Amino acid sequence: MKKQRNMILTVAIETELYDILGVSVTATEVEIKKAYRKKAKDLHPNPNDPKAIQNFQEMAAAYEILSDPHSRAAYDSMGIAGVDGRGEDGGPSMDDVFQQFFGAGAGSAHFGFDFGPGMEFGFDGARTRARDEVIPYEVTLEDLYNGKNVKMNMEKEVECPTCRGSGGKPGVKSKQCVKCEGKGSIFVQTAIGPGKLGTSRQKCQECDGRGEKIREKDRCKKCKGERTVKEKARQEIFVEKGMSHGQRIVLAGAGDQEPGLPPGDVIFLLKMQPHETFERSGNDLLTTVQITLSEALLGFDRILITHLDGRGIKVASPPNKVIKPQQTIILRGEGMPTYKTPDVKGDLYIILEIEMPSDHFMRSINITALQALLPPKRIDPVPEPVIVDSAHYEEADMAEVRERAFPASSDFFDHASRAQFGDGDDDDEDAWEDEDDDGEEPECRTQ
Ligand SMILES: [Zn+2]
Ligand SMILES: [Zn+2]
Repeated sequence: MKKQRNMILTVAIETELYDILGVSVTATEVEIKKAYRKKAKDLHPNPNDPKAIQNFQEMAAAYEILSDPHSRAAYDSMGIAGVDGRGEDGGPSMDDVFQQFFGAGAGSAHFGFDFGPGMEFGFDGARTRARDEVIPYEVTLEDLYNGKNVKMNMEKEVECPTCRGSGGKPGVKSKQCVKCEGKGSIFVQTAIGPGKLGTSRQKCQECDGRGEKIREKDRCKKCKGERTVKEKARQEIFVEKGMSHGQRIVLAGAGDQEPGLPPGDVIFLLKMQPHETFERSGNDLLTTVQITLSEALLGFDRILITHLDGRGIKVASPPNKVIKPQQTIILRGEGMPTYKTPDVKGDLYIILEIEMPSDHFMRSINITALQALLPPKRIDPVPEPVIVDSAHYEEADMAEVRERAFPASSDFFDHASRAQFGDGDDDDEDAWEDEDDDGEEPECRTQ
């Protein structure tokens, strides 16, 4: 062990102690001390809550190691094995640390909490709580708008009722695991880079991290020594109005049980499927509605959309208001409900797209009559330019132009798209131009 230390460079191979204190691996001694004082206040152990006691113990031990430059250096270079090396490299053993903290009266006897072999920390196999189960759950935007109550059948591990979680037949005592000497974990050296060796602690496979084993013939028949059995469980979750993609619904303690540990949580992770009509941004919604050319010119008063709860939303445009292409309107209070205060809703933005009549439709009507009603066409500029050439009319796709490597300034595209989307200072006459014409016939512009 001593010889190998020369090969080990200082690389933090474990950061868990830092995580426990909530400080970075580069934290100063002062920062570590501060973090400890704050945590000690927050986590003051409640004698009736084994989990709280354990959290406190972990935190205190983490501080003990990191506050001492010698043990901190050992931890940084070798992980917990560096300080848990039973004296070989001079660091304090975990047992000493705990004795210091909780020994002599104030300690575990008072708390009535016995942390078993390998249980000091959340390292590797030694957990402080049974495994949490994270279940991705797909929801629609409708679900998040309306809320949803979901019942589902699941299976979970519960403590074996026959052996009450001991894994053995009545009266059978388990034996200390020979491989890990009852510690539940073993130290393994692994290459963490060229010429660098790191020591890390791994769960003992022989006893599955328990530190003890039961002989095969002494095992409980019901759970076969596993200590837990599968049980069907009915879970119910409430997807609340206004919840978001990525939000977690936690059923605390509803997860698998492991003897001697608080049960894990079942966590539903909401995954929202894309919606074909609405886009969501926070509590606001965005959608696009097609209106006809007649509606753009003469106004509308109709159900524009069917909302996420099935309601029709009727909107009337103001009289004598010509609607421009891509005009956006806002329906206040028609957005998503706010999580926890669902009566407060965001806004709904609607982009109005104008559906131009088809060539077929135009052929079917009296064009002369229409022309007499519409604003007049533009005429050539006066005075006419000295040279006038004729160019061929051909439809183009700006998206295609954009994909090419084109040494034009970005303004070129900005102008094109502004004209195409009818944005900005276009005045009323412009709305009548075919959008494809804009890029092709700049000479038509009189400004
Ligand atoms: Zn059993
Ligand atoms: Zn073992």
